[in-house]
Amino acid sequence: MSSVLIRPAVYDIQAIRAIVSEMLSPEAVPALTTGSRVLLKPNFLQPAAPDKALTTHPLILRAVAEIALDSGAHVQISDSPAIGSFARLLKKGGYAEALQGLDVTLRPFEETIPVDVGEPFGTIDVARDAMEADVVINLAKLKTHAQMTLTLGVKNLFGCIVGLEKPKWHMRAGVDRHLFGRLIVSIFEAIRPAYTIVDGILAMEGQGPGKSGTPRALGLLFGGKNGHAVDQVICRYVGLAPEALETQRNAMELSVYDGQAEVDGDFAGINDFQFPEMGSLTMGPEFLGRFMRRFVIQRPTVDPRICKLCGECWQYCPADAITHADSSISFNTDTCIRCYCCLEVCPHAAIRAKTPLVGGIIEWMRSKR
Ligand code: SF4
Ligand code: SF4
Repeated sequence: MSSVLIRPAVYDIQAIRAIVSEMLSPEAVPALTTGSRVLLKPNFLQPAAPDKALTTHPLILRAVAEIALDSGAHVQISDSPAIGSFARLLKKGGYAEALQGLDVTLRPFEETIPVDVGEPFGTIDVARDAMEADVVINLAKLKTHAQMTLTLGVKNLFGCIVGLEKPKWHMRAGVDRHLFGRLIVSIFEAIRPAYTIVDGILAMEGQGPGKSGTPRALGLLFGGKNGHAVDQVICRYVGLAPEALETQRNAMELSVYDGQAEVDGDFAGINDFQFPEMGSLTMGPEFLGRFMRRFVIQRPTVDPRICKLCGECWQYCPADAITHADSSISFNTDTCIRCYCCLEVCPHAAIRAKTPLVGGIIEWMRSKR
């Protein structure tokens, strides 16, 4: 049985430090010792102020870095942001200021090494820094995700796939949520962080994980040695059946998690958390495929009044499914794999996932059966 700590918290360095000290106790993370190389892996999705709830809050990084430094470890903080420069992210996200005076290395993941993550993926390139650290501490954000329902502790390590390899893997596995969940679990297991902390003080609900999501104050930090257990407890807290999360289903199918999580802390749960609008990715029989893609299954749509034609979405789209003209962008619904990377990277929250009218009517009819 894996223990998961839930602690009420606010963004105050002393308060967070007290909680994180309890979480990262020598019993929980014995490898956090003098000379050990510690990697902190936050969610650095894109440059954004902390009150947008897109990224792990800087004070959590500060508190964990202080504790690791106090133990005599060498501390590195790295991620591979989907968009924007690492320097801009550090400034806009408040990290440069929050981490001032600490002897930590801040750098984006760049080098990779081949890692065999098992069938059906085989060998994939993973950030060298994540594979070679003595201790990885996973510092995730509690957010909704239009493709995977939620992005929590386990999915955070998908960020150890570097740069444009990320959309490529979205392309290969992203059309099938279950397969994509398996890829995420396989990467998590290859890295095996010593501890996972999920920032749910200011979480995100609605159409996350990018700027279309809505910040939601939950006032909680979750932590545990087993990231799958942490995710399971969060699912239960926000009112989602854990087996509805593909990373949970895959972890149990792969027998890397027994589904047994024990809560240490106050567990009331909430029943009004807003999940993203999700649509089926299944394309149906071959002859119906095009019709389904165009008129039935959920797809990305743009609000041209908000779009600034900045180019982030079409440069990132792994399927080259976005074209742009002088005044607007458009999606090729036949080639779009519904990975929602565009929704994630749009810096202006101009893209949403929407179910077309016919699909909406079908869903409504099914709900009435
Ligand atoms: S939809 Fe968003 S990312 Fe794409 S061009 Fe418009 S503003 Fe940029
Ligand atoms: S258009 Fe958006 S959802 Fe479709 S493949 Fe491209 S990035 Fe993914």
